[in-house]
Amino acid sequence: MRMRKPFIITIDGPAGSGKTTTARLVAERLGFPYIDTGAMYRAVAYAVLSEGLDASDEPSICRLVQRITVESVTVDGVRRTLLNGVDVEPYIRSREISRLASIVSAIPCVRQAMVARQRAAVEGVKGAVLEGRDIGTVVFPDAPCKIYLVADSRTRAERRRLQLAAQGQEVDASTLEREIAERDAFDASRSHSPLRKPEDAVEVDTTHLTIKEQVDAIVGIAGEKMTQSGGTNA
Ligand code: C5P
Repeated sequence: MRMRKPFIITIDGPAGSGKTTTARLVAERLGFPYIDTGAMYRAVAYAVLSEGLDASDEPSICRLVQRITVESVTVDGVRRTLLNGVDVEPYIRSREISRLASIVSAIPCVRQAMVARQRAAVEGVKGAVLEGRDIGTVVFPDAPCKIYLVADSRTRAERRRLQLAAQGQEVDASTLEREIAERDAFDASRSHSPLRKPEDAVEVDTTHLTIKEQVDAIVGIAGEKMTQSGGTNA
């Protein structure tokens, strides 16, 4: 009997649009694994920094990505980002890593390696939720349920400010608004897999939504798409 393809829900969007919290809770509601692909690029950035490599030294970074293992997993409802099997989640949420992740993720060999791992990670599962920038356009262009999250720039900066404050980093919202705008512009203008809305994605503006409203909306859309597709990607 032919294995059913997993029911993939892609959640793409710019920084601070609410992808991470929403994707994790949608996955929890549906009983699917959740993969934070941004965390995978952050882990590569962390490895580049730890090895003392220069972000412009592409040949060395390409050799590095072949040597390391990077996984995004959820253990007992907690997100873990494993670099060579070690959880680096506590070290990859700084502003420095955000900036570096954006630079290293534009390198083609880094994207190739991470995309292969993202596809391999869902083999054999009944469904999965993946969040990132290129999930609906490049990683799973045939996914039956694609979401594109947006929110106004001030709201996104304020969300990032609260996240950083919770980790003990106090940064004012206007600095973060500028940094996020720079990162989004870089992510959207790179030549490989730029950030863009998939043509067949449903856009959800989270500016005025509570987390519960966001999750309810996406679970509702996923339910409709699941009925339409008979529960698979095929
Ligand atoms: O989502 P997050 O802010 O953690 O992502 C960090 C960076 O990783 C993004 O700014 C982007 O440059 C890169 N990224 C990517 N493709 C993805 C996910 C993230 O290029 N699928």
